[in-house]
Amino acid sequence: MIFSGQLYEHTGYTPESILADPKRSYGGHKIATHLRAIGWDVEVIDFVPHFTVEELKLLWTMRYNKGTKFLGVSSLFQALWAQHMNPFLEWVKEKYPDITIIAGGPIVTTVEEFKADYYIQGWGEYAIVELLNWLHGSGKRPIISKHINLNGEELQVIDALHFYKAYPKEELPTRYQERDFIQPDEFLNAEFSRGCVFKCKFCAAPALGVTKDYTRTAQCWEDELRYNYDNFGVTNYISGDETTNDYTEKLRKYADVTKKLPFKPFITGFARGDIAVAKPEQWEHMIAMGFTSHHYGIESFNEKSAKWVHKGMAKNRLREGLLEMREYFNKNAPIYKTTMSLISGLPYDTWESLNETKDWLFNHWRGQSVYINPLLIQPKGHTSDSMSKLPPLSYNYEELGYIESDVSLEEWFPSHLPRTPENIEAINRMKDVNFRASRPFFWKNDRIGMNFFDLLEWSQRFNNEFIPHQGVSNWYIPYWKTFAKKSFGEISDIVGQPLPEYEPIREFLDNYKEAKLSL
Ligand code: SF4
Repeated sequence: MIFSGQLYEHTGYTPESILADPKRSYGGHKIATHLRAIGWDVEVIDFVPHFTVEELKLLWTMRYNKGTKFLGVSSLFQALWAQHMNPFLEWVKEKYPDITIIAGGPIVTTVEEFKADYYIQGWGEYAIVELLNWLHGSGKRPIISKHINLNGEELQVIDALHFYKAYPKEELPTRYQERDFIQPDEFLNAEFSRGCVFKCKFCAAPALGVTKDYTRTAQCWEDELRYNYDNFGVTNYISGDETTNDYTEKLRKYADVTKKLPFKPFITGFARGDIAVAKPEQWEHMIAMGFTSHHYGIESFNEKSAKWVHKGMAKNRLREGLLEMREYFNKNAPIYKTTMSLISGLPYDTWESLNETKDWLFNHWRGQSVYINPLLIQPKGHTSDSMSKLPPLSYNYEELGYIESDVSLEEWFPSHLPRTPENIEAINRMKDVNFRASRPFFWKNDRIGMNFFDLLEWSQRFNNEFIPHQGVSNWYIPYWKTFAKKSFGEISDIVGQPLPEYEPIREFLDNYKEAKLSL
């Protein structure tokens, strides 16, 4: 059995956060699909944070039989629900000592707080087979590395980013089952390729700078689209690709698939805004393929900073291109809702360029979603250093003038907020959620006259001020569609209300839980 879930990252583990990010597992279903193809019977349990520990125990007891070999736990982002899951994992270990507990995520730090026997980081289809063959078959011991987690515990890790690599991979199927209780309005996960052809200086995504076309076969994607439509009535997807529009040919390939279908899929995911602006021929393929709502990591409108990041494009060309693209998509696509993310505190930033960016966004980007975050630096020597490649910036930030801040995270509190108990609790939770696993280096840089904490405050102030003008973020379209049952047209018109009411989400999760527990 593989247990998986996700929380709304910005608040930590709270009653609201359990309801605010109900997404199906990315990795869990992928691993289950792979293992089933070689003879294993694997069931995936989604939305696990919504189950109580007693319900998880009941579920496990109902499913366990003599053939049960392992319990998997998977999380795409930092597993803020580990504290909720661990009493259950400890109970399984005590009552069923022969069961191996395996935790898997994109990098080990996302799952390091689970109480597991083994950890797999990276795309893990081949790594888990190596591990299971060793534990339950005649395979030899896989390569196991050590990682010290936040609590100083030594973890046994199979590093699938370096060994038993499951990328590139032309067949990337995810096959859901009747026992997953998929609903027609849901958004399922899509994967077109693994890795990114670019190498941005701050980026810690795995497998950067891939040099070949690593895309999934058109047939494999078509089979998945047809299967999900025929069996569950699903047409909506979230792309897990780092950059869905890295190749124009890739978009054309999947647009050709969509043209053959008796239904029109909708896909949302990451895209490079500057690439889309530089290659307007991508637009029609994106629309034909159904990929019409994007997250653009623009990072900066300061040309020197953007160039340093490796996303350099003349500011005015980029801005005009974004506006032109918005107009084109608004005219030709059923919905065009985007998120733009920017970084403050890059090596050539000035307060003037940041404030000019802010003005442009208020004047030109209302109705879309945008947020700014200060530059995060994970210093070399970070605990994941030996495990996964840190971004280039981690190794040369000192040369660029970044040195340790005089203020510590514990001391910092936003100057515009009164120190009420509620505010103190909220800020402490925000610090824990945002910085516990990433463990950034809190910097100041006299060359640009900025420090991390001033920028954190400036960025948060901008983000809050922009909320009344925000359109629905591309990532939150699923909530409005699946739970609030709004049409794309209605979602397009929503401004200033990022999320729908929680009640329909609670009902959806309760129904799922009840269905799983009554099997
Ligand atoms: S920031 Fe985006 S485009 Fe740049 S390397 Fe990372 S994933 Fe690729």
